[in-house]
Amino acid sequence: MRPSKRISNRVFKRVPGGKLKVHIKSPRKGAASCSICGSGLKGASSSRSLRKTERRPERPFGGHLCGACTQKLFVYRTRVKNNDMKAVEVPIKFQKYL
Ligand SMILES: [Zn+2]
Repeated sequence: MRPSKRISNRVFKRVPGGKLKVHIKSPRKGAASCSICGSGLKGASSSRSLRKTERRPERPFGGHLCGACTQKLFVYRTRVKNNDMKAVEVPIKFQKYL
């Protein structure tokens, strides 16, 4: 966790010995979103009661990228592989997944 974020999540708790101690609260997890376009992901849950394969779609980048972005990514990947496109021509958000 970033040091600046750590400060905002501080909670002061009085322990049984009478001392004041700093507890760091972990932030609540929000719904999963696509790391390229930011739209909410379908079928992705962070619930611990489910099995890992039940928590996100079983495809490459399942639980990280939405279906539309995954499809676009594979098009760019194939174009770069077949030398129809240079890696620098790919939109910058897709470049780290190439
Ligand atoms: Zn997306």
